[in-house]
Amino acid sequence: MNAATPCEGTPPGKSNEIVVFMVRRETKCDECGCELFDGELLRLEDNHPLCMKCADLGHLEFLGSGNTALTRRATKHSPLRAVVVRWARARKRYERQGILVTGEAIDQAETECLADEDRRARQRERAAERRKGEDLAYEAATTEKLKELSPVAPRTKPHASQRGPAASIPDQWESPAGPARILISATTDHVRRAASLWGARSP
Ligand SMILES: [Zn+2]
Repeated sequence: MNAATPCEGTPPGKSNEIVVFMVRRETKCDECGCELFDGELLRLEDNHPLCMKCADLGHLEFLGSGNTALTRRATKHSPLRAVVVRWARARKRYERQGILVTGEAIDQAETECLADEDRRARQRERAAERRKGEDLAYEAATTEKLKELSPVAPRTKPHASQRGPAASIPDQWESPAGPARILISATTDHVRRAASLWGARSP
């Protein structure tokens, strides 16, 4: 890679696609010598930066990314198309900024998009509703599956009036930790008392 070119790595896109770079570092067109500043466009031919005019792309107009329908239609109507990319330093990759197509193609695409704007808005709404319905169905299916996996009903403590003969057993005995805890504290008390007696009797 020529150190003077403002491009790094391999740009994205298909091999037959014309790729145009948005200038990041100031450079010059190798053919006409015009200066190319930050944000201007250049094409690399055999590693030589060319301005749009020298690259025979000067008649094309830039259409920024963001409107999928407009981009798709402009691409369809333009006899020549180039993809504009820019090196994103932070992410260390080329990112698509838009396309270069003829002005007529953009006009035609805009007319078509305006003509069916309502229809496309309704399509988007329907798609959003469909996704919402799918989410609810998934939620319901997941809840059912969880019920199948845990067939035991959650344990509820019976009311005192519903208890049988064991009703007189204090609550702490129903907890597994209860008896053990009481036993340990009773033992500790005995040991402490025995130790104090032993200490009192020793010479
Ligand atoms: Zn030039």
